[in-house]
Amino acid sequence: MTSPQHILEHVFGYADFRGPQRQVIDTLMAGSDALVLMPTGGGKSLCYQIPALARPGCGVVISPLIALMQDQVEALQAAGVRAAFLNSSLPFHEARDIESALLAGDLDLLYLAPERLLQPRTLELLGQATLSLFAIDEAHCVSQWGHDFRADYLYLNCLHERFPAIPRIALTATADGRTRGEIARRLDLESAEHFVSSFDRPNIQYRIAQKNNPRRQLLQFLKDEQQGNAGIVYCLSRSKVESTADWLCQQGFKALPYHAGLPAEVRADHQRRFLREDGVIVVATIAFGMGIDKPDVRFVAHLDLPKSVEAYYQETGRAGRDGEPSTALLLYGLEDVVKLGQMAAMSEGSEEHKRAERNRLNAMLGLCEITSCRRRALLRYFAEELGEDCGNCDTCLEPPQTWDGTQAAAKLLSCVYRTGQRFGAAHVIDVLRGSENEKVRKFNHDQVSTYGIGKELSANEWRGVVRQLVVRDYLEVEGEFQGLRLTQACRPLLRGEESIQLRKLPAQTRGAGAEPRR
Ligand code: ADP
Ligand code: ZN
Repeated sequence: MTSPQHILEHVFGYADFRGPQRQVIDTLMAGSDALVLMPTGGGKSLCYQIPALARPGCGVVISPLIALMQDQVEALQAAGVRAAFLNSSLPFHEARDIESALLAGDLDLLYLAPERLLQPRTLELLGQATLSLFAIDEAHCVSQWGHDFRADYLYLNCLHERFPAIPRIALTATADGRTRGEIARRLDLESAEHFVSSFDRPNIQYRIAQKNNPRRQLLQFLKDEQQGNAGIVYCLSRSKVESTADWLCQQGFKALPYHAGLPAEVRADHQRRFLREDGVIVVATIAFGMGIDKPDVRFVAHLDLPKSVEAYYQETGRAGRDGEPSTALLLYGLEDVVKLGQMAAMSEGSEEHKRAERNRLNAMLGLCEITSCRRRALLRYFAEELGEDCGNCDTCLEPPQTWDGTQAAAKLLSCVYRTGQRFGAAHVIDVLRGSENEKVRKFNHDQVSTYGIGKELSANEWRGVVRQLVVRDYLEVEGEFQGLRLTQACRPLLRGEESIQLRKLPAQTRGAGAEPRR
C-alpha cells in the first residue's frame, strides 16, 4: 500500500499537505468517518482522493454537479488515476464497462450523482465491489434551509446502514453552525471527527455600497481597478444578465451572459471561454459558479443583493482562489429588499421555511448596513471570531459616517402610522416631503399632521432611512403593494426612549432636490 505522502508527491505533485488535510486523511486511513468544513479553494478534494488511492478498493464520490464530475475525472485521469463517473449522460455500453472495471478492482475513484447512487441497481453493484470510502461532496445540499437543497441527499444516510464498515467523509464550504449540525445529524456523522477550517479569505477585499446608479458604479469600478481582469458579475434575473452583458460589451469589455435559460452549448461555450481566455467577464445568475475552479478570478460584483450571507460568502469566494488580491463588490438598494422579500413570500414551502428565508435575508441586510468591519461580521456569522478589524474592507478602509437619525426615524414612523400603514416607501416619502402629487391629494394625505415635515432630507436620503429601519426591524414591508407597517420594536423610539444612529449616504448619492440640503 502506498503512503499518503507518496501519493501527494507523485500523483498530485505537491510537497506538503495543506491545513487539516493530513489529519483528515489519517482519520479515513484509520477507517473512521470525517466531516470537513473548509472554504472554497481550501483543498477538499485531496482529503478523499488520497485515502481512496491509499486504501484498498474503490472510493465512491457523491457529487451533485455533473459538469464538475467530468472535469475532476478528466484531471484525475491525466494524473494517471483510474477514475470514472457514472451518470445518465453515458451511453449504455460505457456505463457497463465502468461497472465491470469496478467489480474487477480496476477503479480507484468512481463519481456518482446522488440519484444514481440511490438506484437499487447501483447499490447492489456497490455491494459486490470492494470499496475504500464514501465521499459526500457539497454536503450542505442535505440542509433543507440551505440554498442548494437536494432531496436525494436526505437518503444518503442509507450508506451508513448498508455499508457500516466503509468510512465516510462529508465535505462542504458552507458552514454556519446550524447547517453544520444539520449535516451531521442527517448524514449520521455526529460521532465523526469534525474538521473546521478558518473561513477567512484575507486576500478578498469586501466592499458593499448603496446602489444609486449601478451601471455607472460598476463601470467606474471596472475602469479604475479591473481593466483586463477576469471576473463575475451576478444579477438576480435572466433578463438583467443579458442586458448587462450587452451593455458591458458596448463599453468595450469581453462580457458573456450565463443563466439556466441559455442553451446548454452556449453555457458550456461561455464557461469554457471564461476558463481559457484572459479577461473575460461572465455576467450570470447564481446558476453559474458552483464548482468553477478558476484560480485568477480578480473580482466578483453583485448588482443585486444575495439571498443570504451564505450565498454571499459562496459567491464572493469564487474570487482570488490563487491567493492574490481580489475584490468583492456588492451594490444594494431598497428595491432588492422588497424583491427578495416577495420572492421569499411567494416561494413554495411552509411558513417556517418562509420565516427562515426572511431571517436569512435580514442577516444579509444587516451585513450591508453595519458600520463596523465587514469581515468580522461575516466570519462571526460562521461562528468564527476575528481578533481585530481586518483593514481590508470598505468600512475599515473608509469608516462610514453616521448621523443621529432619531428625529428623522420618528417622523418617518409617525408618517407611516398617519397614512394608515398600507402605503409603500415612495408615497410615504412624498407625504413627508410635502409633495403635491395626485396620489397624495386623492388620499387627503396633504391633511395629515406629518405632511411636509421632512423637507430637510432628499427622497434618496429618506429611502436610506426607510431601508435602515426595515433592516433593523422597526418597519416591515408587506403585501402586494409593499406597504410599510410598524413593528413592536419601534415603540421605545416613538416614545423618545431610544436614539438611533444611521449610516450616512455617500455625498454623491444624497440626490439633488428643490429643498435646501441638510
Ligand atoms: P475545494 O474543493 O476545497 O474548493 P480544491 O480541492 O479544488 O478545493 O483545491 C483548490 C486548489 O488547491 C486546487 O487547485 C488544488 O490543486 C490545490 N491544492 C489542494 N491541496 C494542495 C496542497 N496540499 N498543496 C498545494 N496545492 C493544493
Ligand atoms: Zn474590515
